[in-house]
Amino acid sequence: MLDQGTQRIAMGGDEHPLSISQRRRDPFLHRSDVPPAEFKTGNDLTGHRLAEHPDFVTRATRAGLPTLLAVSGWPPLALAEDGGPLFAEASTREFTAVPRAGLAWDAAREASRKEGLTAWDAADEAITARAAAILAGQAPRVSFVYLGAVDFAGHATGSGTAYRAALLAADQRVGRLVAAVRSQPSGPEEDWTIVVVTDHGHRDEGGHGGREPEVTTAWAAAAGPGIRPGAPPLVARQEEVAPLVLAAAGCPGG
Ligand SMILES: [Zn+2]
Repeated sequence: MLDQGTQRIAMGGDEHPLSISQRRRDPFLHRSDVPPAEFKTGNDLTGHRLAEHPDFVTRATRAGLPTLLAVSGWPPLALAEDGGPLFAEASTREFTAVPRAGLAWDAAREASRKEGLTAWDAADEAITARAAAILAGQAPRVSFVYLGAVDFAGHATGSGTAYRAALLAADQRVGRLVAAVRSQPSGPEEDWTIVVVTDHGHRDEGGHGGREPEVTTAWAAAAGPGIRPGAPPLVARQEEVAPLVLAAAGCPGG
């Protein structure tokens, strides 16, 4: 979530219509300034080149803006595990761990699936409450908030009832984050840029998936200054997110 005087960007939803685009999945760290040979395409970030190509929260932090990184569940995003942290520097860093986070990803026993769904939902709830408090109080100018329960539900249970419940819960949590931003005294006069992204789709039966179209297709949604429903989307590929955020913040590299 980000602002420069009157501009902010939030990872989150919005009560205004969002411009939504289908997009093909890109390699996880695919950015226009990263040569193809240096893309990271898996969950192990060992050997990444983030020192040379830092994430957008780090860039904003180094530009002197107050920033927030709030992550639920997946350690490499925020912690020095599996080659992380993917997001290296932030003024405020929050991480909520999921107990036994690795359980029940594929073909799990029913009890393990339920335990996992409950644990990921609890982690998302905790990080949402923490992030909302920080957004309302400290007013960071650039924020990245990660909710993980939808991903777990899709992998562990497929596209059934639990997946839909996780989607609805995430939608409501995004709404709370946006409400926290707008609760600030100057909120109504500020123009926020809000981006919601996902990293992959799912097969109906769950599991990890591979290069199937339904797995490699995801969506992005954005709202903010210059973003109009029905207009050509400003965020159609992953590498377009960071420049949009940084430009809204007035950061170098935006
Ligand atoms: Zn996943």
